[in-house]
Amino acid sequence: MNIKISEVASLPSRFGNFKVKAFKEGEKEHLVIYTENMEEVPVIRVHSECLTGDAIGSLKCDCRDQLEYALKLVSKTKGMVIYLRQEGRNIGLLNKINAYALQDKGFNTVEANHQLGFDADERTYEIVTFILHHFGIKKIRLLTNNPDKVNSLSDVEIVERIPIIMEVNQYNKGYINTKKNEMGHLF
Ligand SMILES: [Zn+2]
Repeated sequence: MNIKISEVASLPSRFGNFKVKAFKEGEKEHLVIYTENMEEVPVIRVHSECLTGDAIGSLKCDCRDQLEYALKLVSKTKGMVIYLRQEGRNIGLLNKINAYALQDKGFNTVEANHQLGFDADERTYEIVTFILHHFGIKKIRLLTNNPDKVNSLSDVEIVERIPIIMEVNQYNKGYINTKKNEMGHLF
């Protein structure tokens, strides 16, 4: 992997005072948000970009709620959020919007991805291991409902999985149920 790493910068935010560092992996630029004096076994959240949720406040998914929850928690517990630029479970923004258009016609999130020729989830997490090694982190407490994330992190000991429980609304109810029933997410 050819990965470029930025300097460390301070980032005061509404969720706490963070340090940030960017990692450029090919065309993708990821951001690591963390606190000073991190715990030896820090709480780690791996968040994949969701422009519609994170920036626009879309109610079709729970991404922004999860991101805000994670930032608040890592600020409090001295941990880290790894923000990965793999939009739309890594099918990209344009394909994601096409998948949304199919969902408007009644397909669920998994069926819509299949219609477009993608797997339900195309995300990968190799860069996470790289980033954790870069920071010298060997043991983590992983904040996730997604068993794929637990299984895909190699060379890192997950001493605890902390669930992330979000409120369901009328728009994201179907999406969250699909994640639970068809994609094996744990709640
Ligand atoms: Zn989302």
